Amino acid sequence: MKPTIALVGRPNVGKSTLFNRLTRSRDALVADQPGLTRDRHYGHGRVGSKPYLVIDTGGFEPVVDDGILWEMARQTLQAVDEADAIVLLVDGRNGVTPQDKLIANRLRQSRQPVYLAVNKAEGMSPGMAAAEFHELALGEPWPVSASHGDGVRELIETILEPFPDETDEESKRHPKFAVIGRPNVGKSTLVNAILGEERVIAFDQAGTTRDSIYIDFERDEKAYTIIDTAGVRRRGKVNETVEKFSVIKTMQAIEDANVAVLVLDAQQDISEQDATIAGFALEAGRALVVAVNKWDHLDGEQRERIHRDVARKLGFLDFARFHYISALEGKGVGELFKSIDAAYHAAMIKLSTPKLTRILQLATERQAPPRVGLTRPKLRYAHQGGMNPPIIVIHGNSLENVPDSYTRYLEGLFRKAFQLQGTPLRVQYKSST
Ligand code: GDP
Ligand code: GDP
Repeated sequence: MKPTIALVGRPNVGKSTLFNRLTRSRDALVADQPGLTRDRHYGHGRVGSKPYLVIDTGGFEPVVDDGILWEMARQTLQAVDEADAIVLLVDGRNGVTPQDKLIANRLRQSRQPVYLAVNKAEGMSPGMAAAEFHELALGEPWPVSASHGDGVRELIETILEPFPDETDEESKRHPKFAVIGRPNVGKSTLVNAILGEERVIAFDQAGTTRDSIYIDFERDEKAYTIIDTAGVRRRGKVNETVEKFSVIKTMQAIEDANVAVLVLDAQQDISEQDATIAGFALEAGRALVVAVNKWDHLDGEQRERIHRDVARKLGFLDFARFHYISALEGKGVGELFKSIDAAYHAAMIKLSTPKLTRILQLATERQAPPRVGLTRPKLRYAHQGGMNPPIIVIHGNSLENVPDSYTRYLEGLFRKAFQLQGTPLRVQYKSST
């Protein structure tokens, strides 16, 4: 499971600067997805072979009045409680403020390890920067500079030390799909419909409320793991409590899965939260299947409305298959599995270098990339740079001039040639000059 790091601190200490530094590499890839509602508070990062999630609690400032910390905003507290590690940022140029003390007092009660980062410490001697902050009693202060980068890598490496390297290959050998979606769309009903029919091999009851439940089962003699973010614990309960939606839980489930199944409620409008959750899956590069649930008892006009709504608000999911199902009546579940299988195979596919290069050559013969100034980009060969999602790396010259529209043209051809259904695909360039 990917560890989650929450950044906490009063305004202006540099949380969003640090957030940007920690998530920069992934950000660029999805920055210009049309229609995608991006939540700037959650991001992905990696040092070496260790991936992590970061939450910037910056939008959720603690409420301080008359020197009393009334409460940290609810989201900040939830993030603090659910994260695996907390970084309290303070401003090394300002010294300790009463607000820092209040936040530190609250954080000393948390179960998770808290790291005290003294920011804006560039050009200061580490001892000087740290000295004053010992009084916050959160261990040895870490002098860092979010804007220059000093000390940031060391801090993150230390935070990640107790956590394992990237998930082993073992867990990638069969479809492992996360059932995600906002509360009440029918996730538990769908999980129950799936498991009701199948042989459950292992039922891994998770430890804390933040965790998803992992269940191994077989269907048509094939192994699957379902990652249940809603929790089948609620099965049969009379007083169903409405699920407390957890962004961290959802993001971790997506990260850990090789396919995400996004459940939507056809009896309601597509909401911003739906689009945000879809965006998380896209950002993670996960293969995706969309289940538009509660399709029972809808008349023609209502169905027409939801089709339009989906097209308008979730157009950026054009690579995914949509299914219109009724989890309650168990309708459409079989078809859903066909798409889960297809999406899994597409996400995990091995692309041969000769075939990739041949498609690339055909593509450029049919339509060469446009000239920029005096130079025309020269695309020479392609190889696979990764899976889940498949990454195609194209080598050549002057590739920084390839326009996005041409990249999309190539993507389309690769998709068709390899029958990549249900997974995002990333095309990257490596110029030799
Ligand atoms: P936030 O409110 O905690 O998210 O703080 P911001 O990231 O918006 O930063 C507040 C201000 O501090 C901005 O003007 C940043 O440019 C500046 N800042 C952030 N990190 C550093 C740093 O490492 N060194 C210096 N000198 N300034 C920084
Ligand atoms: P979750 O919070 O996403 O896990 O949603 P639940 O599975 O608890 O379902 C929320 C409500 O929607 C419950 O009252 C379900 O009975 C109802 N529901 C779930 N699936 C369907 C469906 O396919 N059709 C209809 N009409 N109702 C459904």
